Amino acid sequence: MNTDEIRRKLLSWYDEQHRDLPWRKTKDPYKIWVSEIMLQQTRVDTVLRYYDRFISAFPDVVSLAEADEQTVLKLWEGLGYYRRAKALHEGAKEIVRNHHSILPESFEDLLGIKGIGRYTAGAIASIAYGEKVPAVDGNAVRVFSRLIRYTSCVDTSDGARVMWKTGTCLVDPKRPGDFNQGVMDLSNAVCKKGRPACDMCPLEGLCESSFDSLAEKLPVHKEKKAPVTECWEVTLMIDREKNRIAVIQRTEALLGGLWIFPLTLLPPNEPPDHYIGRARHVFTHRVWEMWITAQEVKEQDRTDVLWADAVTLNNLPFPSAMRIPLILARKMLEGEGIQEAGKRKKPSKRL
Ligand code: SF4
Repeated sequence: MNTDEIRRKLLSWYDEQHRDLPWRKTKDPYKIWVSEIMLQQTRVDTVLRYYDRFISAFPDVVSLAEADEQTVLKLWEGLGYYRRAKALHEGAKEIVRNHHSILPESFEDLLGIKGIGRYTAGAIASIAYGEKVPAVDGNAVRVFSRLIRYTSCVDTSDGARVMWKTGTCLVDPKRPGDFNQGVMDLSNAVCKKGRPACDMCPLEGLCESSFDSLAEKLPVHKEKKAPVTECWEVTLMIDREKNRIAVIQRTEALLGGLWIFPLTLLPPNEPPDHYIGRARHVFTHRVWEMWITAQEVKEQDRTDVLWADAVTLNNLPFPSAMRIPLILARKMLEGEGIQEAGKRKKPSKRL
C-alpha cells in the first residue's frame, strides 16, 4: 500500500471537493462531538436540519448537562436512534461532574466518557486536537476494505482489527482530521455502497479493487437477520369534554423516555374491526405495522396515562413512529371529524 501517495491524493482531493458543513467551521470538540453523534446512521442532509438548532439550544457542554432529558429528546425528535441523545446527555453530565466541564483532550481519555466509542473518540481527537488517530465507521470500512481488497467478513473481531489497523497506517500525521474527513467525503461522493465511481476517484491507481468489479461486492458483511414484524393497535383515546388525548411515556429500551399513544399488541393478520388510519415504521431490527383506532374515554376512567391538550402534545417528544397517529390526534383535538380509513367487518361510521 502506497501510504504517502494515498494521503497526498486524498488530501488534495479533499482540499478541492470537501463539503462545506457547519461543524467543519469549528475546532470546538463539543460541537464536533454533537455532529459526530448526530451523523451516526443518519444522512448529512438530515443532520443539517437539526445541528444548528441543537447547538443554539445547548451551545456548550454545561448547557447540555443542565438541560432536562425531555428538552434534549424534543430537540432530537425525528432524528431517530434516541439512545444517542441520551448517551450524549449523560456524557455531558459526566464531563461536567468529573472533568471540570472540559472534554478530555486525547483519544484514550475520550474513550472513558459514556457514549463515546472508538469512532467518535477518533473523530474528535483527530479533528479538534490534531491527534494522529483514525475514525473508522461503516463508511471508512467501505473505503478501506476496497483499498486493501479485504475479502473476509468485516463484522468480526479480526475484520474490525484489520480495518482499524488500516486506518491507523493511513491517517496523515500532519492533517489527521482532514484525512479522516476526506475518507468520510470520499465514501459519500465516490466510494459509494453498491457501485463505486472508481473512474472519478483520486485513489483509483492506488486501490487494489479498482481494476475489476470486486469493489462492488466489498465490504463483506455478515448476513443480516430479517427484521421481526409486530402488529400494533394505536389507540387515540380522547376525552371530548376536556379536549385532551391520552399519551404514555415509554419505559422500554426501544424509544425509552419518548411519548406514544397507548399500544396493544395484535396477533398477526388480525387487525381491529375499525380503524382510522394505518402506519408502518421500520426500526433496525423490527417493523411496526400499526392500525390506528379512536375511542372516547373519560379522563377519570384512565388514570394511568397523561391527558394532553394540543399545547402539551406539541411540547412532548414523540418518535417518528408516531408521526401519522400524531397528525390524526391533532385533527381530533381541533374537532375535525375523522373518517374511518378501513374496517374489517362492521359498516363504517363517523367518529
Ligand atoms: S478506486 Fe473505487 S473502490 Fe477504490 S477507493 Fe476509489 S471508489 Fe473506492
